[in-house]
Amino acid sequence: MLYGGLEAGGTKMICVIGNENGEILERATFPTLSPQETMPEMLEFFKGKDIKALGIACFGPIDLNKESSTYGYITTTPKKLWANYDIVGEFKKALNIPIGFDTDVNGSLLGEITWGCAKGKTDALYITIGTGVGGGIMSNGKLLHGMLHPELGHMRMVVAEGDNYKGHCPYHGTCFEGMAAGPAIEDRWGKKGVELSGDDKVWELESYYIAQAIASYILVLSPQIIILGGGVMHQEKLFPLIRKKVLEQLAGYLNTKELADIDNYIVPASLNDDQGIMGAVKLAIDAANE
Ligand code: ADP
Ligand code: ZN
Repeated sequence: MLYGGLEAGGTKMICVIGNENGEILERATFPTLSPQETMPEMLEFFKGKDIKALGIACFGPIDLNKESSTYGYITTTPKKLWANYDIVGEFKKALNIPIGFDTDVNGSLLGEITWGCAKGKTDALYITIGTGVGGGIMSNGKLLHGMLHPELGHMRMVVAEGDNYKGHCPYHGTCFEGMAAGPAIEDRWGKKGVELSGDDKVWELESYYIAQAIASYILVLSPQIIILGGGVMHQEKLFPLIRKKVLEQLAGYLNTKELADIDNYIVPASLNDDQGIMGAVKLAIDAANE
């Protein structure tokens, strides 16, 4: 059986044909222009491929409430051309197959839970630190949506002593994303993250903010595993720094086997940057079985 997967991002749309084993058989990438330009390209790719359902892991904010009149819409995104766009409705109209829909980060988490390093877990967290910061949550075996969907990247931070940086988030200044996303690194240090690899103080501070957020997520959500992805996390040296600082921040309050084995608790994404698209295929499989 074949399924379609779409990882819808602000810069590119990745379309794939996959199967129930998570194998990706065909893929194409289109730049995210306007819906008028990009939708026909994607439809052209999916049409005639005999897919049973389509899964969309989408940038947000999006409406995931099936009772809502705007279910399946991209809502108030700063990507103006896609604001208030009925992406699920348009695919449904053109393809007439079941459509699964969730956030990009829940998609990545679902990919890791189904085929990657979080296999078998019922409570897990996926955090991406890239152009922005976002996170997907599975709680009690279900992807968490709630009122809208979690926005883990905009959590308030306790600013490090002596850090005068005003932060890069237009809403909150010094929130997690405002202090730790790729553009914040570049704005603060005047160079891209990849050019700062050898500068220890950059990663000390970066890991302080990431660890602070993770310690709070652990206390609130009690995840069994935490997966870190996104461009900034390509700095592998961040992992040992983050693990050490998370334990320091928790200050011995929690004693679990997971925290005792923290190298296998806070881990990199495991699917070669295909976690999002594989998660989208799983959204399609689930939609077909609904
Ligand atoms: P997006 O979030 O748009 O999907 P990415 O996850 O690739 O994209 O993140 C892009 C951000 O990650 C950019 O701000 C870039 O500077 C930063 N980045 C990419 N590679 C590295 C690296 N090796 N080290 C540090 N930062 C990086
Ligand atoms: Zn913010």
